[in-house]
Amino acid sequence: MALLSGGLDSALAVKLMLDQGIDVEAVNFASPFCLCRKGGCGALEVANNLNIPLKTINVGEEYLRIVRKPRFGYGRNMNPCIDCRIFMLRKAKKYARETGASFIFTGEVLGQRPMSQHGKTLGVIEKEAGLEGKILRPLSAKLLSPTEAEKKGFVRREALLGIEGRSRKKQIRLAEELKVTDYSCPGGGCLLTYREFASKLKDLFEHKKRVSLKDVQLLKVGRHFRFGKNKIIVGRNEAENGLLLRTRMANDYCFEAQGTGSPITLLQGPKTRTAIKRAAELTVYHSDRKQGVVLVKFGKGEFNKSLRTRILSQEEVERLRIVPLSTR
Ligand code: SF4
Repeated sequence: MALLSGGLDSALAVKLMLDQGIDVEAVNFASPFCLCRKGGCGALEVANNLNIPLKTINVGEEYLRIVRKPRFGYGRNMNPCIDCRIFMLRKAKKYARETGASFIFTGEVLGQRPMSQHGKTLGVIEKEAGLEGKILRPLSAKLLSPTEAEKKGFVRREALLGIEGRSRKKQIRLAEELKVTDYSCPGGGCLLTYREFASKLKDLFEHKKRVSLKDVQLLKVGRHFRFGKNKIIVGRNEAENGLLLRTRMANDYCFEAQGTGSPITLLQGPKTRTAIKRAAELTVYHSDRKQGVVLVKFGKGEFNKSLRTRILSQEEVERLRIVPLSTR
């Protein structure tokens, strides 16, 4: 059983196993933090091209809890890579048991990722997942101790590789040799490793006790502002405006400036007079009007309330922004 991310390394690992005459099936974890808009980072296409069956497991609220409180901490941003790998391997182990797979393998490369792919950490991950000595990493196997699959003779160790480090040159060359062409995300794509997204997620965790997948979806849309207990999200284009209207929660207020090109703005949290004023001001700031006083309509289900508001200065806007432009 392969852990297939849809990226180059896991596709190569599968190909190496297939070339040894081993029957492979794959499992892919579709995370709410996947960068790829198709979901699953194209693992289905990769599986189809390699002609192997694929099981997609959607990781949801359970995974969110791990991201919120990782036992082994975060990497450079909000990426809890060690806990994440343990979580996925535990799920893969369960599924491998159900299907009767003889062993599990991954596309991990020794030393490629600073947090989760160092020799010592690989051992911790295996132990915590209850898979000590049982995970084969075909791309780096020659640099690691023989696994159960090699000892039992399921796999020929001499046909495995000894790739190490962050450069992907060897893998790209190997992909050409083995004719592995359709991999979607050569470097993998996880929003948790991006500073801008991580700031928004951190803010969400700090201000909301129960975070839902919908909250996470909203982090991917619009410009985000914090005003005390309020979160204000301003759409950046027509598609995002539509998405904000469709995904808002029942208690959110929506705002739209009148008589000018306007974004849709969402106001979450207590609907105090000052919070409503701020949301209206941010709406006008991001509208086509650059001066004067503007009428803004707003409301819960419909735009049935209104107020007139001035245009904020850029400094005032930056003070409210969750990810200040200067830190990007
Ligand atoms: S980069 Fe993201 S998906 Fe990959 S191990 Fe880290 S947290 Fe998990």
